[in-house]
Amino acid sequence: MSLLVVGSVAFDSVKTPFGEAEEVLGGSATYFSVAASFFTPISLVAVVGEDFPQKEIDFLKSRKIDTDGLERAKGKTFRWKGEYGFQLNEAKTLDTQLNVLQTFWPKLPEKYKNIDIVFLGNIDPDLQREVLQQVAKPKLVALDTMNFWISSKKNSLIKTLGLVDILIINDGEARQLSDETNLVKAARKIQAMGPKTLIIKRGEYGALLFSKKNIFHAPAYPLENVFDPTGAGDSFAGGFMGYLAKTRKFDDANIRRAIIMGSVLASYNVEDFSLRRFRKLKYPEITKRFKAFKTLTHFDTV
Ligand code: AMP
Repeated sequence: MSLLVVGSVAFDSVKTPFGEAEEVLGGSATYFSVAASFFTPISLVAVVGEDFPQKEIDFLKSRKIDTDGLERAKGKTFRWKGEYGFQLNEAKTLDTQLNVLQTFWPKLPEKYKNIDIVFLGNIDPDLQREVLQQVAKPKLVALDTMNFWISSKKNSLIKTLGLVDILIINDGEARQLSDETNLVKAARKIQAMGPKTLIIKRGEYGALLFSKKNIFHAPAYPLENVFDPTGAGDSFAGGFMGYLAKTRKFDDANIRRAIIMGSVLASYNVEDFSLRRFRKLKYPEITKRFKAFKTLTHFDTV
């Protein structure tokens, strides 16, 4: 059984202190799918416009991503423009053009309806709920969102949160969603909204997992060359969910392994602009960095 994702497919224009890229392939569902495809087949639900090149769809297909749920609509593809300062930790959104996303209403192909692991990527929370309603009996549902939706559609987002098992957001978003500055208190408030498992991403400081009973911390891989953090969050989610879909165990120990897999994929993604690094990434590099994570965090008892 494969993994279903709904999210954005985009053209991004990104500027970092190390360079810039104009109108390159991006989007939450794109980064997610390509990262997850190292572990499992993916079924993609998203929309592109008439301007989206066939060669990018062929690229997704070449990665075992089922694009039958990728609708081509009249109009232009979603566009996002962002800039990162010297710290590289947070993107400043300069422009968001929803374009075809504005009128998108997901309709799942019949064959997608029995998929039991679902990732509701960063997209309008109304659409996230709509996708969930079309899936017969999901075993595991995870969700990502961002400040844009927390500010503009908080009530709808809270409704969607009541339906999910895992929420993956960054620290700023966790604070915004809960109205709490302390992350532990924020986590408890968010868990009470629905998701019993919460992952708070903290950029170069790693990720925190709050489960029912435990808290776990994974570092980010200390890289010498970070070029573009765009898509790090979605690549993290893709590695995380892809690994869970492959191993099909949702206990705390496996969720911890999956978090490290997510961190591995995110660490590779930031080494270049757009999806360039993923296009040449090979599976043995993933296992090599997973082992490096183990060494990085190992210590003996006193
Ligand atoms: P992240 O993994 O958080 O860095 O996400 C980056 C991706 O999110 C970019 O490739 C954008 O195309 C996409 N994105 C930015 N804003 C939105 C939005 N409001 N809705 C959906 N996707 C977005």
